[in-house]
Amino acid sequence: MQSKHPLTGISSVAIHASGHENAEYAHITPIFATSTFTFDTAESGMERYSGPDKTRIYSRWGNPTFTAAEETIAALEAFGLKDEHGQQLVLKALLHSSGQAAMTTMFMSNLKAGDTVLSHFALYGGTNELFKSVLAGAGVKTTIINMRDLNLVEAALKEDSSIKLIHVETPANPTLQCIDLAAVSALAKQYGCILTVDNTFATPYLQQPFKYGADFVFHSTTKFLNGHGTAIGGVLLGKDLAFMNSTGWKWHTLMGGNSNAFDAFLLSQGMKTLELRMDRHCSNAMEVAKWLEQHPAIAKVNYNGLESHPDYAIAMKQMKHPGALMSYELKGGLKAGMQFIDKLNMCVRAVSLGTVDTLISHPASMTHSSLSVEERLKYGITDGLIRMSVGIENIADILSDLEQSLTGL
Ligand SMILES: *Cc1c(COP(=O)(O)O)cnc(C)c1O
Repeated sequence: MQSKHPLTGISSVAIHASGHENAEYAHITPIFATSTFTFDTAESGMERYSGPDKTRIYSRWGNPTFTAAEETIAALEAFGLKDEHGQQLVLKALLHSSGQAAMTTMFMSNLKAGDTVLSHFALYGGTNELFKSVLAGAGVKTTIINMRDLNLVEAALKEDSSIKLIHVETPANPTLQCIDLAAVSALAKQYGCILTVDNTFATPYLQQPFKYGADFVFHSTTKFLNGHGTAIGGVLLGKDLAFMNSTGWKWHTLMGGNSNAFDAFLLSQGMKTLELRMDRHCSNAMEVAKWLEQHPAIAKVNYNGLESHPDYAIAMKQMKHPGALMSYELKGGLKAGMQFIDKLNMCVRAVSLGTVDTLISHPASMTHSSLSVEERLKYGITDGLIRMSVGIENIADILSDLEQSLTGL
């Protein structure tokens, strides 16, 4: 249930988009740890089965704790946007057990054997493997190009009429490449393709792909939306409510990628502070990037908020702030990179991203270790590259930990 008061700021939306209504007057939406729901009479059961709201029947189909998180994400992603009639945009969100589950629903419900997906080469590893292993097996081909070159995008669309869906991740792992959403969206419309956007790195606070014409937006809620690293989750958002309530919902529930009440509860708590956290993540990241760029042990910094980044202009055009992810190269290559990681005292050695603490990983030996050296180099993943998700600690402590780890390398 939405707030009756007009909400003009995104934190108000994050806190009040989902109301307090429940039979027990609990202030915070409870963890509904129940697989099924009861019917007072046979008739009320029949009504719930045939009605539009299927969240109080069986928890694979929905659960009030999931609904609370879904309403909040839908309101955040639609915040301040208008639909084609000039009315407040209304979105439907489907919460899943993981980002990968939400992505599977997104692709499987929109594609069939014989279709082709067009995408960019810098992709989340799981997305890439889903294309190669799962979708390929289901008869869906993938064409991977450099989508930062719009001429290549248009040429691919012109040449191959089996391209039904364009999937974009911006900014993307680990070199923070960005793709022009408005331009790609215009081409998608022109060639009758669906546009899906992975908005995990940006969050709806920094970038709203529906504003540029995206058809579906995807998030791994595991990252900034949860923010505290307490649960895996994913969400699929769509503006075609009829599709979301029929085909989208059907694929989601039949493939069984439902969330659970505890994870949904943790996600709802995390999202309330999204704006506060993101402001701090972002200001810290900007300072860290500028500091690293000056450091004598650092060869190169990939941060889309630095003018030296090739996609700086695109990031500035479509994002409120360039975000909290970056990668950098040590002059000493692989050996220096591994020594640097080992010497860290506060920053945490872990993959994943978007948590309140600063996380540092080494793509060549961790997230991208399954790729060949040639493939890695094509993606800009050199042996000495370090990936960093800047946290919300006090900036002086982040910089001093980096300084002591870089000393002597
Ligand atoms: C983590 C992540 C995913 C996958 O989400 P899971 O929650 O791990 O299943 C997809 N895309 C991006 C950009 C991610 O960072």
